[in-house]
Amino acid sequence: MKKDQTPPDRRTVLRIAAGIGALATAGLLVTEGTGGRAAAPGAAVRGAGGAPGRPAAGAAGAAHHRARATAYRLQPMTTIPRRLRRIRPPVREHPFLSLPSTGRTMVLTFDDGPDSRYTPEVLDLLARYDVPAMFFVCGEMAAVNGDLVRRMADDGHVVGNHTWSHPLMPSLAPSRIRDEMGRTSEVVEELVGQAPLWYRAPFGAWNRHSFAIGAELGMEPLAWTVDTLDWTEPGAGTIASRVLDGAAPGVVVLSHDAGGDRSQSVAALRNYLPKLLEAGYTITVPQR
Ligand SMILES: [Zn+2]
Repeated sequence: MKKDQTPPDRRTVLRIAAGIGALATAGLLVTEGTGGRAAAPGAAVRGAGGAPGRPAAGAAGAAHHRARATAYRLQPMTTIPRRLRRIRPPVREHPFLSLPSTGRTMVLTFDDGPDSRYTPEVLDLLARYDVPAMFFVCGEMAAVNGDLVRRMADDGHVVGNHTWSHPLMPSLAPSRIRDEMGRTSEVVEELVGQAPLWYRAPFGAWNRHSFAIGAELGMEPLAWTVDTLDWTEPGAGTIASRVLDGAAPGVVVLSHDAGGDRSQSVAALRNYLPKLLEAGYTITVPQR
């Protein structure tokens, strides 16, 4: 059903990766690498050379603020609230595929949820090992699983935007893309008090409208480095092997906590997460 696909061909990926490297060097994407947790609100961001003196956004801590109703999604850019203009990133031409490899850090991402059948156990496992992750939620799933979205934020995870209904964005008019992304940002903000700072295109299908609208909504685009292809249900052992074989500094792992039977994805996480930690990896989330 819902699944994400490996982005284009290898040459394109390498070309994109080179661009990402330049962005990372400029300090536009940085990690907080100590202790495996997200930085405290207001903490300095290491290597934030692209925006001198800018404090961290503090993704985790904002979770406790209750939402104010906002209606920015359908408004022209000039009327975006000041706080969103302040964090509005540049319009990218490619998504980020990895984190700068400043150490043995990796990012785990879970797409398409929340799903009450699988997300709670993913959250339990992450809590057991005290590591943060990123959840790219679909608005239609978040709207009916609000308690799980709140738990994500309360547990210190990053809640990203994966559109409302998981469409193929390049097939949509810009107004529909804005609606898919804007509604999702709204529901997340209503639930956790902060709109997403990151988004991921369904199927890895990005286009220039989604980059422009994502930036307008204050979000950076994040793709992935290692695709577990867990949606093909290849077996928990195979999923875990793909993560462990692909493990390297800066790697972003794609898997799913919804969109079908994700019991293999959960079982795989139970297998590979302690092994990554034993291998010396710090599981982290990007800071903005
Ligand atoms: Zn997806």
